[in-house]
Amino acid sequence: MGKKILILGAGFGGLEAASGLSENLGNSHDITLIDKSDHFIIGFSKFEVMFGRRTAAQVKSYYADLAAEGVNFVQDTIEQIDLGRKIVTTHKASFSYDFLILGLGAELAPELMPGFVDGGFEFYSLDGAERLFPVLDRFTSGTLLLSIFGAPYKCPPAPFEAAFQLHDFFVGRGVRENIDIKMLIPGPVPLPVAPDAEEEIRRRFDQQNIALLRKHKVVAIDPAARQAQIEGRDALAYDLFIGVPHHRPPEVIRNSVLGAKGWIQVDKESLMTAYEGVYAVGDVTMIPVAEGVSVPKAGAFAEDAARAVVSQITRKITGEGRPVKFNAVGACFLEFGEGQVAQINANFLGQSEPHVFLEGPSAALREGKDHFADDRIQRWFR
Ligand SMILES: Cc1cc2nc3c(=O)[nH]c(=O)nc-3n(C[C@H](O)[C@H](O)[C@H](O)COP(=O)(O)OP(=O)(O)OC[C@H]3O[C@@H](n4cnc5c(N)ncnc54)[C@H](O)[C@@H]3O)c2cc1C
Repeated sequence: MGKKILILGAGFGGLEAASGLSENLGNSHDITLIDKSDHFIIGFSKFEVMFGRRTAAQVKSYYADLAAEGVNFVQDTIEQIDLGRKIVTTHKASFSYDFLILGLGAELAPELMPGFVDGGFEFYSLDGAERLFPVLDRFTSGTLLLSIFGAPYKCPPAPFEAAFQLHDFFVGRGVRENIDIKMLIPGPVPLPVAPDAEEEIRRRFDQQNIALLRKHKVVAIDPAARQAQIEGRDALAYDLFIGVPHHRPPEVIRNSVLGAKGWIQVDKESLMTAYEGVYAVGDVTMIPVAEGVSVPKAGAFAEDAARAVVSQITRKITGEGRPVKFNAVGACFLEFGEGQVAQINANFLGQSEPHVFLEGPSAALREGKDHFADDRIQRWFR
């Protein structure tokens, strides 16, 4: 009888794991992929929706169209993971497993910032991006505060991309000179592991008249007074407040022994948890790579992790295939507006020390960003 492989979460990590296992193992084993949603979206397509370039419906890919042959997709909410009995319980059923891959991502927790749910907007969820577009469309003058609440958050360059695209959007509408854009970051530097990207961000912020307020940790929003309270500083007035909400491990992980230390801890090379045959990939993990630096929460690294896990499970089941080590190799795009896109390339574990460098910005990388999305959709969906 074939082995039972259960993949929890059909995001970047889960989809790549399902595709790889399907390619390697075909129909001879029982591969099940579970997600509470009926669709997947590429993270950065939220910008398309936020700026009204595409609708929410246009950026969804449905799991009913999954390409991975022999993979059984189940739409249901995972409620409990019993590592002792090797059983996962969803709202409607329960599933036993021989191998378990956890790719449940990071949960947004906007309610952790007092006043934010009532007084602010976000673009990290599809609903949030959809709600924000008409607000941006009507916004013609005043102060816009864009704030990162804390680390870790998905795709570290994304909030800076938002700032550049806000500038472009308002220029396009002929209202930019009436809008004061201020970006508030909690720490001293925008991207601690990418100094060349940081230099380019600073240069372009100056050019585009976007203020970068470092060490400005927002601790509460007062929607009635339209003020953001900042730790150890005077409050800042705003007309429109956009924030990157706090991130935390998903509820089912917080309620499990796997979440005892917060994000799931794994072995760096094998991605295996402390439990034999149980692996975790992507945003749900915290993988330290150097003093104070962890693998960033980004789709590219989730995929890289999934490839390593696929190779290990395949080798354990069939004894065949080449070993693939997790190197935390990947790239995040950084859109500077005006058609200019850069790519932050990273190799965190494949060399003696983490290597991160900026490529571009250039108009050619705009195409690269489009291909990144198209390639994944074509690989994972019919
Ligand atoms: C604005 C923005 C721009 C971005 N740009 C980039 C970029 O340029 N490059 C890049 O690499 N990354 C980018 N990202 C980040 C990227 O989207 C994430 O890092 C990536 O999706 C993480 O993959 P994952 O598989 O770990 O988790 P996810 O893709 O988040 O998937 C997790 C899945 O688990 C499911 N799930 C969670 N809990 C349960 C439960 N209890 N029951 C059932 N299902 C559950 C969810 O529905 C979800 O489908 C961006 C993100 C944002 C928000």
